[in-house]
Amino acid sequence: MTGHVTVIGGGLAGTEAALRLADRGHAVELHEMRPVVKTPAHRTDRLGEIVCSNSLKSTARHRPSGLLKRELTALGSFLIRIAGECRVEAGTALAVDREAFAASVTRRIESGERIRVHRGEVKGIPPRGLVIVATGPLTSDPLCRSLTDFLGVDRLFFYDATAPVVAGESIDRSVAFAATRRGEGEGHYLNCPMTREEYEAFVAAVVAADPFPRRDFEAVSFFEACMPIDELARRGPETLAFGPMRPVGLVDPRTGERPYAVVQLRPENREATAYNLVGFQNRLRHSDQRRIFRTIPGLARAEFFRLGRVHRNTYLEAPRVLDDRLAVRAQDRVFIAGQLTGLEGYVEAIATGMLAGMHAAARLEGRSLEPLPAETALGSLLRFVSGHEGVEYRPTNVSFGLFPPLPDPAPRGHARGEAMARRAEDALAGWARRNAEALGTFPVG
Ligand SMILES: Cc1cc2nc3c(=O)[nH]c(=O)nc-3n(C[C@H](O)[C@H](O)[C@H](O)COP(=O)(O)OP(=O)(O)OC[C@H]3O[C@@H](n4cnc5c(N)ncnc54)[C@H](O)[C@@H]3O)c2cc1C
Repeated sequence: MTGHVTVIGGGLAGTEAALRLADRGHAVELHEMRPVVKTPAHRTDRLGEIVCSNSLKSTARHRPSGLLKRELTALGSFLIRIAGECRVEAGTALAVDREAFAASVTRRIESGERIRVHRGEVKGIPPRGLVIVATGPLTSDPLCRSLTDFLGVDRLFFYDATAPVVAGESIDRSVAFAATRRGEGEGHYLNCPMTREEYEAFVAAVVAADPFPRRDFEAVSFFEACMPIDELARRGPETLAFGPMRPVGLVDPRTGERPYAVVQLRPENREATAYNLVGFQNRLRHSDQRRIFRTIPGLARAEFFRLGRVHRNTYLEAPRVLDDRLAVRAQDRVFIAGQLTGLEGYVEAIATGMLAGMHAAARLEGRSLEPLPAETALGSLLRFVSGHEGVEYRPTNVSFGLFPPLPDPAPRGHARGEAMARRAEDALAGWARRNAEALGTFPVG
């Protein structure tokens, strides 16, 4: 049984979804607003354009991004295959020639007889039929407004900055202490205490480091609550100590005194395997972030799951509105894919495009697919999108912090990655066996 799907957005998620559907014999109407309406980051009218770095990150099996790519390859991702064909030398990372990549994606889409491409802005959610919305972090304003009405939410999130996330096990608990600031509610915060000397050296290092070169699309005004710490540090030597690093209401159990400043760490997940450096969004180079943040007492051996960055972003509070098939709970004929789901990164966008395409195809074919197990990289992303229960829902890349923890005693470092990968591969193979009929001809390797 074949059918028809409207895909809005011809970026990474939208093109992967369209190719998946067409491969299953379904007709796709793909809408891309460029070049009629431009975005602040895209430079061409090509489909599948990569907007910034040309790296799709690690291919190593024991790294979360490598594991995710392996799962995508096993499930027959079109864009990961094209990325492999356009690969440039980058050690163990999968980096691509971005021109060749977008040209190849565009050719593949335009030569497909089942995909019709429409160039122009879509301003509202189509009233009927299956729809995949994949318009990304730079979704045009009219469609943002239509989405908020459609989803019944007050607003989409416009989030300018992300703070680093560290592995819980890499925090030195003999230094970092658990406590919540007075009157700030429940929580399981950890606090890294600083003396005056340590604080001053930290601020001096932040001020001395160069922020990323500014690009036009970053010339947005920051929300005060999302102000990058490098900007705050430049405002004055004490600004951070009165802002995100204020020690009010905290006593260091080692000294019995209030520290001069603190860096607060907030759990990212239920299992507290990952912690966010609260208020530490920043524009520093990644190498400077690793170097400077490891001078924070308690973080000398920090393993970073994610580093801070700043750019405009539009995303939904997905756990409130999406199910674990990326369908809108209230109207499950509409799927959301790509960065709009709150998952950040090229490979994550491709992954959600593939999943939305897969579930839309299954719906048209009257088949039912089990949700992917949380132990897989793909399943961990879906668990985050549909079930995150943390304090705030903030964009994230795939990371082992999203996976269910390994049983104790859990291995560390490289061995942990290998154990996570083995568990994920077994879970994916089991899922593929159980869903063989519903998967039809999807190639599961
Ligand atoms: C400035 C910036 C830099 C980034 N750098 C990186 C990076 O280095 N590495 C990384 O992994 N991730 C990066 N990301 C995050 C993310 O991985 C990418 O944005 C990724 O392209 C998201 O994929 P997507 O398919 O969701 O959106 P996109 O690839 O942006 O695709 C969305 C498409 O929808 C179109 N569109 C928007 N509104 C409409 C409309 N109303 N009607 C029709 N079409 C519409 C857009 O023109 C676009 O082509 C960056 C994001 C931004 C904003």
